[in-house]
Amino acid sequence: MLAGEMNSENGLLPPVQRLLNELHASYAGVAEGNVATYIPELSLANPEWFGIALVTLDGHTYAVGDCDVPFTIQSISKPFVYGLALEDNGEDYVLSRVGLEPSGDAFNAISLDPGSGRPSNPMINAGAIATAGLVKAGDSDPLTRMLRMFETYTGRALTIDDAVRSSESETGHRNRAIGHLLRNFDIVDSDPEAVLDLYFRQCSISVTCRDLALMGACLANGGVNPVTGERAIRAEHVSRVLSVMGSCGMYNYAGEWIYRVGMPAKSGVAGGVLASLVGQLGIGVFSPRLDARGNSVRGVLVCDSLSRAYSLNMLNVPNVSRSGVRAAYGLTEVRSKRRRSAEASVALHREGERARVYELQGQLNFASVERFSRDAVERADEIDAYAIDFKRATGIDAGAIELLCNLLEQLCAAGEIVALADAEHLPGFGERVEALAATHTGLRLVENRDEAIEWCEDRLLETLGVPEPASVVALEENEFFDGLDVETIAALMAVAKQMSAPIGARIMNVGDSATSVFLLVRGSVSVTIDLPDSEVARLATYSAGMAFGQSALVGETVRTADVTADSEVEYFELRTAEIEALGRDDPRVLAAVYRNVARDLASELRMAGAEIRALAI
Ligand code: GLU
Repeated sequence: MLAGEMNSENGLLPPVQRLLNELHASYAGVAEGNVATYIPELSLANPEWFGIALVTLDGHTYAVGDCDVPFTIQSISKPFVYGLALEDNGEDYVLSRVGLEPSGDAFNAISLDPGSGRPSNPMINAGAIATAGLVKAGDSDPLTRMLRMFETYTGRALTIDDAVRSSESETGHRNRAIGHLLRNFDIVDSDPEAVLDLYFRQCSISVTCRDLALMGACLANGGVNPVTGERAIRAEHVSRVLSVMGSCGMYNYAGEWIYRVGMPAKSGVAGGVLASLVGQLGIGVFSPRLDARGNSVRGVLVCDSLSRAYSLNMLNVPNVSRSGVRAAYGLTEVRSKRRRSAEASVALHREGERARVYELQGQLNFASVERFSRDAVERADEIDAYAIDFKRATGIDAGAIELLCNLLEQLCAAGEIVALADAEHLPGFGERVEALAATHTGLRLVENRDEAIEWCEDRLLETLGVPEPASVVALEENEFFDGLDVETIAALMAVAKQMSAPIGARIMNVGDSATSVFLLVRGSVSVTIDLPDSEVARLATYSAGMAFGQSALVGETVRTADVTADSEVEYFELRTAEIEALGRDDPRVLAAVYRNVARDLASELRMAGAEIRALAI
């Protein structure tokens, strides 16, 4: 089964599949090590079994070899049960019962603190038995809860291998001794035999190396199963589980493992190895021959090779872009889609640098937002309004939330205006900024960057004393008539048809035939187009005194955008045929009309150019 399951017809293989195939082929001949025999049933394992699986955070599984052969999870269960104990009892209580220090002793050592009886860590048997004793019954019993917990990680029903369980139960005298000793110290405070029975069952859960890889991927994915989308463990416990795997997961090889492989991992005596790299992947390897420390020989080799090939050591310095700022610019460069009066346009052109737009991107953490926060503070003297766009931020950690909220509070307290676009899609951040916005009038949450920019423009125009646009502008004052003489205007007005529409009404639809120009006398309208995923993009907002639909005069035969009334509107429809008829008698009419249309189209082109420039950064 070396070819891997993804071989396509043209013989190409995804590179990861190819590497797994190669590693499988090159290590399948390694025959060092011995199958565990101290649990008699484990000695029946076929020493040649060998499977490798890797699960990515979009839930894809790469697999090669014996990936569907079931084996018992053994010690790999320990970190996961530790996670359940943390959920059941909280961190402080669990820490009072089980320590966090690597013992340096063998996994089955009776390594208890001489005074308190507290086991050194939850990965040695003593610590794991104590941890099993901490799992609560809930509304079923500890074993059922453990199984359900493991099933959330594997996304499939799991069973216990009873032959292995009874084999260990009959021969596990050392573990029994440990269990009773823990009872003596009150680390286990119930019947030690029941806790041991639970522990033996937990170790005998039957899994495959696909399961292990997916379990690793759940931890790497912040505790959420990337295939089912179900949460397997609360986010705050993930790093705790991974840290005990990192410091004590590979028996006495833990130090060298971190040095060479650098991924939190756990192995078990049945031959399984599970590794998890936060934010990247989960790995499961199964090969029953163990080295002197109890780790699968081929499992260690595979993880070592994978880590080298793909730079998976968690202590590698990530070569990511350190800046979370994708683009930053002032409002002289980019404007909102609201068409402004000539006076407002001039003012924004002159003073646009007093408002600044920051587009943030990627995973926001300390390193990616710290510099932005410094820049925002340093510029505060010259800037009155900030528009911060989170649309392209894919995530945010608690550190970045802390830093940004502190910045926002300070900016607001200093009287700055801040509009946040699309901040609410970031879990944890959305709630914090909503709370801030409730108490700070200068802080506004809006849906997109365009709205944020519009809000900043409005505030800036207010500060600059530019009057708000009039809500009613008489028809003869419409910009469409600029440069026309009084008679022509009167003649056009005579053939214009008066219309009105309530708020939200559709005035024009994509595909309508384009035979008229519209002159707005009251209210405002927005021109929009539909984008994929039922998103809508605004192309322009016009207010009283402006004209729309003029491209009907320059060759457009059908409408290419929708127009909707933003408020109750009154407007006049002027048929292009009427304008052309007047123009036949007096060519100067057409010249003036086209000059006005050209002026508007040129200003739209300028805005589109500025936007393209900003997008290309
Ligand atoms: N059930 C096994 C024991 O307690 C687990 C050991 C292991 O996988 O390290 O001996």
